[in-house]
Amino acid sequence: MSLTLSKKAQAVKPSSTLAITAKAKEMRARGMDVVGFGAGEPDFNTPENVCDFAISAIKEGFTKYTPASGTNELKEAICKKFREFNGLDYAPDQIVISNGGKHSLSNIFDAILNPGDEVIIPAPYWLSYPEMVKLSDGVSVIITGERKNGYKVTASQIQQAITKKTKALILNTPSNPTGMVYEEEELRQIADVVVRNDIYAVADEMYEYLIYGDEKHVSIASFNEEIYKRTITCSGLSKSYAMTGWRIGYTGSSVEIAKLMGSIQSHATSNPNSIAQKAALAALTGPQDTVAAMREEFDKRRVYMYERVKKMPLVHILEPKGAFYVFIDVSKVEEKNYKGEKINSAARLAEILLEDYNTAVVPCADFGFPDHIRLSYAISMEQIEKGLDRLESLLKSL
Ligand SMILES: *Cc1c(COP(=O)(O)O)cnc(C)c1O
Repeated sequence: MSLTLSKKAQAVKPSSTLAITAKAKEMRARGMDVVGFGAGEPDFNTPENVCDFAISAIKEGFTKYTPASGTNELKEAICKKFREFNGLDYAPDQIVISNGGKHSLSNIFDAILNPGDEVIIPAPYWLSYPEMVKLSDGVSVIITGERKNGYKVTASQIQQAITKKTKALILNTPSNPTGMVYEEEELRQIADVVVRNDIYAVADEMYEYLIYGDEKHVSIASFNEEIYKRTITCSGLSKSYAMTGWRIGYTGSSVEIAKLMGSIQSHATSNPNSIAQKAALAALTGPQDTVAAMREEFDKRRVYMYERVKKMPLVHILEPKGAFYVFIDVSKVEEKNYKGEKINSAARLAEILLEDYNTAVVPCADFGFPDHIRLSYAISMEQIEKGLDRLESLLKSL
């Protein structure tokens, strides 16, 4: 044997969003006034009651192993939340608590995929999905949501992508990166396709609380027994409770799948951090007013960004309905010249914005959608104003 490395590991792409955030951070450290629209996490602090509860957990010695798939008290709190917010009836033995939503998703694919199984991923997609599927020996089948349909895929597009090897569909609503939200009727039709073809639905509902205006979050598993059986519903505390660093995510699924995920987790990581589980318990069972306040603030920024970008030349934007991102079509910008050279790609545009305008945005090729950029509004209004001024001045100069 020679010292070769895992081909699978080497085939995985590092996360480009993290790379951009890192570069912006580094420029800022050098004293530059950089606006970072790359943020994938709330800019708020974790609610104080949550922090206090975690501190008392430490002081009371809740610092040992817990059951590998999480504590029963937290599972019960999650069941209550599923019942009241999502209209989903799960018992504690159907819940697995993991180290963040990412870990939950990765457990799901490990539990359901065999080598060569196909997973349908609607683009634009969260960039980790194809890499996770690859790591679990699955094969991604990408279908594309069209702009005229709010970048969402339709039931018939999903039906057309189904083969004998299809194992699952990933559905992310509200969506990262588009901020779009699937309507109940769209979800019902998609649920019918999932049931008719007897595949799994992996429902990533990480942004379920961050939804604005008249929109309502609907969980696909809630329609009937048949879709419920085939769905693994995934959520977490990171985005809704400004708890990204605590690393708590969870799933609701059949008992059978929960057992497999729990068993995988028992060998890979054991329980998620005991203190973070206490913090999650406080978040889910305590007062929800901070969540509402954060959502209100996000909503103000969302409206401001949409109204401003809508009026800018060369770009196209749809009104986002959830999460904390705006998704901008920059294909017309790419046709323009900058300093005598055709811009040509969203990646080059992002480079120009960062290097010459001190503004970080995320080009979306890795989200399966070239010619688009994603701007997060999980930054202060003041930063948003400054950053949009810069974007606007570049666009007007082209
Ligand atoms: C942030 C995010 C997650 C998971 O977040 P964790 O930090 O791992 O809890 C899952 N799905 C989407 C779409 C996300 O944006």
